Amino acid sequence: MSQLTVSKDVLSYCTKCKLNLGHTIVAMKDSVHIAKVKCNTCNTIQSFIDPSQAKQKANKTRTRKTSLTPSKVISVADLWMEKMSSAKKKSTPYAMDGKFREGDIIDHVKFGPGIVEKVVDDKIEVIFRHEIKTLVHNKQ
Ligand SMILES: [Zn+2]
Repeated sequence: MSQLTVSKDVLSYCTKCKLNLGHTIVAMKDSVHIAKVKCNTCNTIQSFIDPSQAKQKANKTRTRKTSLTPSKVISVADLWMEKMSSAKKKSTPYAMDGKFREGDIIDHVKFGPGIVEKVVDDKIEVIFRHEIKTLVHNKQ
């Protein structure tokens, strides 16, 4: 292995470029440990970051991010299918003066069968085959 000395090129993780890039050593801690490096791309002088460690760090961040957002995108149609297949109730024709509850299956003249997902006062959020709609209910 070649001796690490000031002005030699090493691979380090650049915090500015966010990449493992060629850096020039500007300061050494001792004969084997690099203290400071200068990014050959953006010329930023920073602490040496072992590329293998930086990689681990990046992977961890990515995993954390993935766990927050579901990797599989569920379409309205999938959601509708899932809700309809698990529904046990019989459908009721939708009417503005009708009163609906969460989980009710309604039959809409225009949108077809749907399932009540949420009830907010005089409004219901209904999942239909192609879209989620907010409808009025319990109208006096
Ligand atoms: Zn850089």
